[in-house]
Amino acid sequence: MKGTVQLVGAGPGDPGLLTIKAKDCLEQADVVVYDHLANSRLLEYCRADAERIFVGKEAGRHTLPQETIGACLVEHAQAGKRVVRLKGGDPFVFGRGGEEIESLRSAGIPFEIVPGVTAALAAAAYTGIPLSQRGHSSAITFLTGHEDPSKQNLTVDFAAHAGTGATLCIYMGMGQLPRIAQELLNGGLSPETPAAVVQWATLPRQHSLVSTLGTLVESVESAGLGAPSIIIVGEVVKLREQQSWFEAGPLFGKRVVVTRAREQSASLAGQLAALGAEVMELPFIEVKKVLDPTLISEVLADIAQFEWLVFTSSNGVNAFFELLMKAYGDIRCLGPARIAVVGKATEKALNRYHIKADLVPGTHTGDALGAAMIATDSMESTRVLVITGNRNRPDLVQKLEHEGGAIVDTLPLYQTDSCAWQETAEGQQLLQEGADAILFTSSSTVDSFVQGLQQQDWSSTALIPKYGSIGPLTRDTLEANQLPIDFEASKISVKSLVKACCKALAN
Ligand code: SAH
Repeated sequence: MKGTVQLVGAGPGDPGLLTIKAKDCLEQADVVVYDHLANSRLLEYCRADAERIFVGKEAGRHTLPQETIGACLVEHAQAGKRVVRLKGGDPFVFGRGGEEIESLRSAGIPFEIVPGVTAALAAAAYTGIPLSQRGHSSAITFLTGHEDPSKQNLTVDFAAHAGTGATLCIYMGMGQLPRIAQELLNGGLSPETPAAVVQWATLPRQHSLVSTLGTLVESVESAGLGAPSIIIVGEVVKLREQQSWFEAGPLFGKRVVVTRAREQSASLAGQLAALGAEVMELPFIEVKKVLDPTLISEVLADIAQFEWLVFTSSNGVNAFFELLMKAYGDIRCLGPARIAVVGKATEKALNRYHIKADLVPGTHTGDALGAAMIATDSMESTRVLVITGNRNRPDLVQKLEHEGGAIVDTLPLYQTDSCAWQETAEGQQLLQEGADAILFTSSSTVDSFVQGLQQQDWSSTALIPKYGSIGPLTRDTLEANQLPIDFEASKISVKSLVKACCKALAN
């Protein structure tokens, strides 16, 4: 069986600029071949068992030769795999997509091409420069400073483009900037022609400047801009807003640390990134399944006897329904049980199984959950199943038993362990460079943070992080560890934590 290759544009960096079709391709791929300009966060769309092959340039190493990449695509496709070749921006704009297709054509491999947002369009959009505008420019030209990065010669006659009146968008031009600027001046463009440079467009580290052709080299040097950048030359650059809408985001350029874990943290990271933050995800905690087969079969055999099921986390919901579906394959096995959840995220996880929660407390804590359940006046001699992790809620169980008179069973299904976050590359970066804020979303994230922090006091780092807490329990744990609480969410929710973070980091 022959596989296929999809040449997919990854867009310029902001993961939100990926097309829906590109996302579909990634979700279905058996093999993904990517390089350094494609945002590696996009790989999170791939199946866990998809093979990921990096073919980009790493420090001290050259990019793999084009033939090797072509051969790699052919080899995997011939093995019957669905291969995605993920390329920064658009595959056909200075991306050597054409050459990769040649290899596929000669091997008779079927292929598809999915366009992406190319860097010039992204740089213009994220700095607010309209590339065309009536009365200013009615043509747009994409040029490359050097087609082959190892060659130092310009392959484009820049002087010839100077007289066209088009907006010029120059890729890969930073290494040759003085020559490019000089050629454009030689071609007749005035030194007063507005010019912009946008580095790392669409990413939190985006850095842009506006200058004139005559002073561009100097401005770039003093601002310290380098590759990868797009250079935009033309009258339209004058139309740029005072400050780019993107760079004006409340968290733009701020480094915010969150714990790396699925689901809630993905939404937290997404919300922060949308406000311009550079989100650093650290593995503060790790959630592992812990399954006690005897206990599970006892509980499941008896499942219809419970009048209340209580979930204290979305991890618990997912682990429980996975087991339940394996055992019964039919949701009706739950009988008429009522369901209580500790908060919104857990409720959302439950809703994914097409089940509504009967009770969500106004305050998302175990204590409030217990009180709300007791207030239903249905606890006396009632069988309740609390589905938890290892940091289960003895306070909740006790409350239901002692104050409510319920008969409570607990079913621990997972374990939350601390991770050695300080040993990861991001962890090292945090310890050396600091951050603007660290957001703690549970007591266990604080515990793990403290374990890895050891004697670090931040005094030698450029940025001393502010500590943010999602709610009272997390705050208590910060306090117990003598850490400051610089800000706290007004409600226990991701949205509220993001809001508090924006306020705390506002200049
Ligand atoms: N196929 C890509 C271009 C690859 S060539 C596309 O369509 O965008 C690599 C060059 O693209 C870089 O040298 C730089 O000039 C530009 N580039 C890519 N991503 C960029 C980004 N996020 N910000 C600014 N320039 C970028």
